[in-house]
Amino acid sequence: MKYNVAQLLKEQSGGMRQYSLHEDIGTLDPDIHPLTTLDGHIQLIRTADGILARGTLNTSVELTCSRCVEPFSLPIRFTLEEEFQPTIDITTGANLPVLDEQEAATQIDAHHILDLTEVVRQDILLAIPPFPVCRSKCAGLCPQCGQNWNEGPCDCTEDKVDPRFEALRELLEEK
Ligand SMILES: [Zn+2]
Ligand SMILES: [Zn+2]
Repeated sequence: MKYNVAQLLKEQSGGMRQYSLHEDIGTLDPDIHPLTTLDGHIQLIRTADGILARGTLNTSVELTCSRCVEPFSLPIRFTLEEEFQPTIDITTGANLPVLDEQEAATQIDAHHILDLTEVVRQDILLAIPPFPVCRSKCAGLCPQCGQNWNEGPCDCTEDKVDPRFEALRELLEEK
């Protein structure tokens, strides 16, 4: 996900390059378990201060359902939009002042390489829900025997008494 932007930096604001992306992200992050490559399109646009990277990217990751604890695949689609700043003046070769708030992730290095890796990694982590579920109606596990209720009821569920019948039973027992 590295792009040499030396030529683009020499252009005026509005100059643009387009790339299609097809990346193996298997080693991107130990918490990301991709099932497919990362695919999409990236636009690099020359701005007054640097280069705006913009694109829509797709991948699929394997997650563990927070209810039934089964692995499942979640398609992820996200929009990337981040402005990158040069650290070297392209015409003079002089070092440019680095702003305090400027993150290392969005700096174009001394060889004019713009690297999307860290921005993509953060965007994918943000796109993963904190409590992923395999399907919206995932029934989860029986808290007593651990049976996966998506695969059918267990014997414990038969012990559950409808509270209305419970009230009726108490009435009958009082007599
Ligand atoms: Zn589930
Ligand atoms: Zn059970």
